[in-house]
Amino acid sequence: MPPRVPFTQTFLSGKELEYVTRVIEQGSLASDGPFSQQSAEWLKQYCGAAGVLMTSSCTAALEMAAMLCELGPGDEVIMPSFTFVSTASAVTRTGAQPVFVDIDRRTLNIDPACIAEQVNSRTRAIIPVHYAGVGCAMEAIGELAREHGLVVIEDAAQGVGAACGGRPLGAHGQLSTFSFHHTKNVACGEGGALCVNDESMLERARILRDKGTNRAAFLSGQVDKYSWVDEGSSYLPSELACAFLLAQLEAVEQINGARKQAYEFYHQQLEQLEEQGHIVRPHVPAECQTNHHLYHLLVADREVRDQLLLALNENGIHAVFHYVPLHLSPMGKRLAPETPTLPVTESSSERILRLPLFAGITTEQQQQVIAAIHDFFT
Ligand SMILES: *Cc1c(COP(=O)(O)O)cnc(C)c1O
Repeated sequence: MPPRVPFTQTFLSGKELEYVTRVIEQGSLASDGPFSQQSAEWLKQYCGAAGVLMTSSCTAALEMAAMLCELGPGDEVIMPSFTFVSTASAVTRTGAQPVFVDIDRRTLNIDPACIAEQVNSRTRAIIPVHYAGVGCAMEAIGELAREHGLVVIEDAAQGVGAACGGRPLGAHGQLSTFSFHHTKNVACGEGGALCVNDESMLERARILRDKGTNRAAFLSGQVDKYSWVDEGSSYLPSELACAFLLAQLEAVEQINGARKQAYEFYHQQLEQLEEQGHIVRPHVPAECQTNHHLYHLLVADREVRDQLLLALNENGIHAVFHYVPLHLSPMGKRLAPETPTLPVTESSSERILRLPLFAGITTEQQQQVIAAIHDFFT
């Protein structure tokens, strides 16, 4: 029997089938077709970027970003440990060293003071991750980057439709990446995008995405034959996936609006439990506009978290937790053994719990979740 309240569920705008059908009717599945280009154009307008390249995943976009920065052995890249694997693996596969730092206890975003402590002559880049679609302290991070000549790569995997300091997430760093994985607000199963805000990186980005060939220049008539000119891989997404995605991007306000409503209902209904000291609800700084990507709670300790998860699951509610801090993972221990204790990261990852949240969750489903949490604490 499937859970009565699933953790996530794909929202359909209603245009997906029509757009996918159009690709089939066109009789060409060639990548970088009309739907790929329209999706890229949509994101480009949204970020005000010099260029946007659709990719097969956010992981692919992060790998391209690491290559574009020409990272390699001897280089260090500062990032949170409280993030998804790809933020780090994109860096480590170049031979560069990830330097894991701690997060802010209220937003769970990378703490600029912790970045400052780790900057040295080997530091090349900072990767802020906008956790839950809440923007990092981009002003402080930008200042540090300018002062030390560092590249900022935003991992905006969770950030489509969110903003901070009046600018969309993805528009702050020289490079930024989005995910359209099925768990994200705007989804096409597997998909991503690399947003290039520094125009000088754009041409090479196209080459890296197309197996290290100058095929893009060939297709646009700039060179008379195409060949292997650089490193790269196959990072292009399918035109079919981009057709599905465009239907989702066009509905982003509807999607994020529905999530906002669900988020605010949880927030209001759980206020009392926070006042009683049982939980800590998510915090969104005044300068941030969230896209309500996820709703999480922090409880007293790991034991309470595990018991609450069990109680919810027994009530047919699929709640989950994440992340195993990267510096404590087997690979992280091998590649970054010098990482000191990161108290906020370690404590948060033991105490966090994510509630079901998606566009289309019903009030009844949410009430069931809220009632189960109240029952647990009383
Ligand atoms: C989802 C996610 C990724 C990976 O996205 P994919 O599209 O699945 O490769 C990377 N970083 C963060 C912070 C994410 O949430």
